[in-house]
Amino acid sequence: MRDTTAPDDRAPRHCCACGRETSAAVPVSAIDRVSGPPVLVYACPDDAPHLIPRPTPGELIRRRA
Ligand SMILES: [Zn+2]
Repeated sequence: MRDTTAPDDRAPRHCCACGRETSAAVPVSAIDRVSGPPVLVYACPDDAPHLIPRPTPGELIRRRA
C-alpha cells in the first residue's frame, strides 16, 4: 500500500478553481472514495487561500483551551 499522505509534490497539478497547471499546488481538500485511498484536490497558490476552510472563532477558542 502506498502512503497517500505523502503525494509527489513535484508533479504538476491542475488547480481545482482556475484549472491552471501549477508545480506549487496546495492540497485544499480530499475526496473520500469507497474503492481506494482519498483523492487530494489541489489548488494553485493564488486560489488556495480562498479554498482552505478557515477555523471559526469558536474553533480557535476551543484549540486554545
Ligand atoms: Zn487556481
